Amino acid sequence: MKYERIQNFINGRFVPIESQRMLDIFSPVDGTLLTELPCSITTDLDIAVIAAEEAFITWSKTPIKERVQVFFRYKALLEKHIHELAALGTEENGKTINESTAEIEKCIELTEFACSLPQLVTGETLEVSKGVDCRTEKVPIGVVASIVPFNFPSMVPNWTIPNAIALGNCMIIKPSEKVPLSIGRIAQLLKEAGLPDGVFNIVHGDAEIVNAICDHPGIEAISFVGSTKIAKHVYRRATQNLKRCLALGGAKNHLLVLPDAAPDMTAQNVTASMSGCAGQRCMAASAMLGVGPVDHIVDKICIEARKLVAGDTLGAVINAAAQDRIERYISEAEAQGAKILVDGRNVKVPGKENGTYVGATVIDYVTPDMDIAREEVFGPVISIIRTHTLDEALAIENANPYGNAASVFTQNGGAARYVIEKASAGMVGVNIGVPVPREPFSFGGWNESKFGVGDITGKSSIEFWTKLKKSTTKWNAEAGINWMS
Ligand code: NAD
Repeated sequence: MKYERIQNFINGRFVPIESQRMLDIFSPVDGTLLTELPCSITTDLDIAVIAAEEAFITWSKTPIKERVQVFFRYKALLEKHIHELAALGTEENGKTINESTAEIEKCIELTEFACSLPQLVTGETLEVSKGVDCRTEKVPIGVVASIVPFNFPSMVPNWTIPNAIALGNCMIIKPSEKVPLSIGRIAQLLKEAGLPDGVFNIVHGDAEIVNAICDHPGIEAISFVGSTKIAKHVYRRATQNLKRCLALGGAKNHLLVLPDAAPDMTAQNVTASMSGCAGQRCMAASAMLGVGPVDHIVDKICIEARKLVAGDTLGAVINAAAQDRIERYISEAEAQGAKILVDGRNVKVPGKENGTYVGATVIDYVTPDMDIAREEVFGPVISIIRTHTLDEALAIENANPYGNAASVFTQNGGAARYVIEKASAGMVGVNIGVPVPREPFSFGGWNESKFGVGDITGKSSIEFWTKLKKSTTKWNAEAGINWMS
């Protein structure tokens, strides 16, 4: 075992998890046993909540300009340790080192936004009548929880950590049980940056801890990122318990490709979007809607896809179960009449035989009724669906229950504008494969890709992590008594 057994991080210290229920954590890169993860039980969560409640008394009263100083230092530490964090992310998640490095760069950008929060939460004040002032302040909520998925071991935690904490909350994070290592290093860096003990806590585990978070009376708000099935479960359970909840789910993102699209740029973008992070991104292209004659672009996509080398320029998928699931989708589509143009099944990477890889896969003549056209595949696979008109393509995009992202590739401004207007997705792109809004713009989908109000990053997240205090003061004795007094 390469690393020591995983521990929780509570009140500024790593503490052993007593549970007997143990998970082995293997690297998807080559099957190395990395560590073992004992699954916490409810009492571990109770201890973390007590620590966070205690820390909240002081942290919530610390002025925001002082609180963000921690994040200026944290940002510098992320920059200093970028290569180490990237290597750890690759080891536990399987993405390429370039992708892991980009992930840490994104963490730095997210932290940079948190550092600007004092400029954005200044509140409002107005003299509403002679000598009477109304004032609003955004105040912290209390102890909050963040439940995260496996596909971005550092970035998704950093969607929530800097903003929630800089805004004065104390946090308990429940990392994915598939990637428990990076978050421990993040905890160390936050402590080194000067974050007081108890403000940030980690409770490792699986469904048992997620359910305990939803039920815990000491937790005020929960953000969740993961699959739609679990997002629905968490949203229902948390709100049933009268907690504030924002739950981001899975995705099925469509790229609409028109015949006038720039062929090379489009082919490169489509391929990068479907294969980046081995397709394990909630913003990954999963279906391409070819509108009319686009064979010349499909040919170039195949050329780009064949350039990708599993284990080198294309990372691993998270585990053998994911590999089987993705390959099953491909085989079923083939059996139903789709044409496999580039086949990523049964890939073996020399020297990494125990790694879990799927090669880049391009499938043509997929029809909208096939499972591969409707469901989230979460692998490096693009399904091409042929359509005759833009409206036909948009009808397919609109009919899908998810709604994270959609993009159109075209040189025609009118067509692009039409897609922006008609696509049923929270994040729409024009000539860009992965239309992630960068801060201060916020990240969040629609439909079955997100449950709850607001978005998880950027300005929109301020609303989620604070509550509004409205105060009315009168310093005008002469005004006498009126109906408001
Ligand atoms: P997942 O839903 O399996 O797990 C997410 C979290 O839920 C983990 O912490 C896990 O421990 C917990 N969990 C799993 N099963 C549970 C259960 N039965 N009861 C309670 N909790 C449970 O997701 P994943 O496989 O880790 O991540 C991949 C999914 O996340 C994909 O669907 C992807 O699209 C989605 N995702 C969405 C976004 C977004 O912004 N919308 C971002 C990243 C990932």
